[in-house]
Amino acid sequence: MSRLPAYYKSIAKQSKFAHLNVFISLAEDAIAIPPTSDSNEPRHKLAGKRIAIKDNICTSDLPTTAGSGILKDFISPYDATVVKQLRDAGATISGKTNMDEFGMGSHSVHSFFGTVSQVGAGGVPLSAGGSSGGSAVAVKYGQCDVALGTDTGGSVRLPAAYTGVIGFKPSYGLLSRWGVIAYANSLDTVGILAKSVDTIQSAFDPTSLPPSTRSRLRHPRPSNSPLRIGIPLEYNISTLQPSIRKTWIRALHLLESKGHTLHIVSLPATRHALSAYYILAPAEASSNLAKYDGVRFGSRADGKDGTPESVLFAKTRGAGFGPEVRRRILLGAFSLSAQAIDNYFIQAQKIRRLVQRDFDSVFRASNPLLSDIEEEMGNDGGVDVLLCPTAPTLPPRISELESQDPVAETVNDVFTVPASLAGLPAISVPIGVRRSSNEIKEKGAEAEQATGMQIIGQYGDDGLVLDVARQLE
Ligand code: GLN
Repeated sequence: MSRLPAYYKSIAKQSKFAHLNVFISLAEDAIAIPPTSDSNEPRHKLAGKRIAIKDNICTSDLPTTAGSGILKDFISPYDATVVKQLRDAGATISGKTNMDEFGMGSHSVHSFFGTVSQVGAGGVPLSAGGSSGGSAVAVKYGQCDVALGTDTGGSVRLPAAYTGVIGFKPSYGLLSRWGVIAYANSLDTVGILAKSVDTIQSAFDPTSLPPSTRSRLRHPRPSNSPLRIGIPLEYNISTLQPSIRKTWIRALHLLESKGHTLHIVSLPATRHALSAYYILAPAEASSNLAKYDGVRFGSRADGKDGTPESVLFAKTRGAGFGPEVRRRILLGAFSLSAQAIDNYFIQAQKIRRLVQRDFDSVFRASNPLLSDIEEEMGNDGGVDVLLCPTAPTLPPRISELESQDPVAETVNDVFTVPASLAGLPAISVPIGVRRSSNEIKEKGAEAEQATGMQIIGQYGDDGLVLDVARQLE
């Protein structure tokens, strides 16, 4: 134990957090790379930084389970590219964080390794958000400096909002997915959680694209010049918790006081985005998860020699996958089936395109992924970024979730899935609710929770999104 560097000891000391189920595995035998004074050397940019990695991102020294029983014994032969890049920059991987199985969930309650929670006022266990709940709680309680998560439909931003930390989902494709266990490939992104935008930026740089690819992306306008901030009308839903609406207005005024201007915009397809997402993501998942059959991948269920393959597959998958994953596989297989594909999958793809068009029509900058002709059509009256809440409610108590039906769980993703469907960069920043201790006593957990506000930018405007986030810190 005495060989362990100081931060491992401090994690051990924080055993009062052990019941929160934050880590699935900890790098207890790892020897920290000593902090270096040579901080100008880019290779050592993250020297001495402890990085927690969501357990669906492959590491060669610690198991990678994706929160699933079917991968409980899996150790990857290689590091994911993002992990390799972090190690090359001098960071130390401190552990693998707990999550909803294969990233499917919004409260980190669907893990083979137990529910992740955070402690609300009066010691009440609250939802950590999902699916990167372990990463968010690890950042919140100082169990790491930076955490990696994955965000397919909000899994970095929602936990960040619920736990009061910052969670950044870059533009789709900007961070490598090599070595990241797929949930829904066309939506999956690696995201970063930390307590400050600067810390996120320092972890983002070494893991981003090579200069040749970067040059395809537009150079955003400097954020110190007045920006046009969009307020998407359709995000002001009737079920938005009043305190969150108030915080949204406060954040808008804060940006206005910095010289930016506010503009109401309409994104009409938003109201269909959630339904489209919950067709598309399970459809891709049902295909991605087909390989966990106990032969090609996954822990095999017991079977005598000569057991027919189909029986072995069914037994393995029935035992290895949890109920939420099994539900998604069935849903996805159904919406891709011959009798349902036209009414479900194809319609959802059309909605996805409408959501993308909506965003392109409100942003001043054109989408660099579109053809050059469309790119010419800039939109001078458009906005630079959008500001909206990350989630419609504050984190629920874990006890309330036990009786919640699966559909109710999905409504928490209503504000995060549109940016995912369009592949746009988005960040959740906590806007503190500063209250006196008396108020906290009176109002309980709700009073001390920060509220997550989301900044969404045009594809490739990741730098601008981070800059605006910094102005809200
Ligand atoms: N809650 C969403 C889902 O269950 C989003 C998950 C994610 O982004 N990985 O699909």
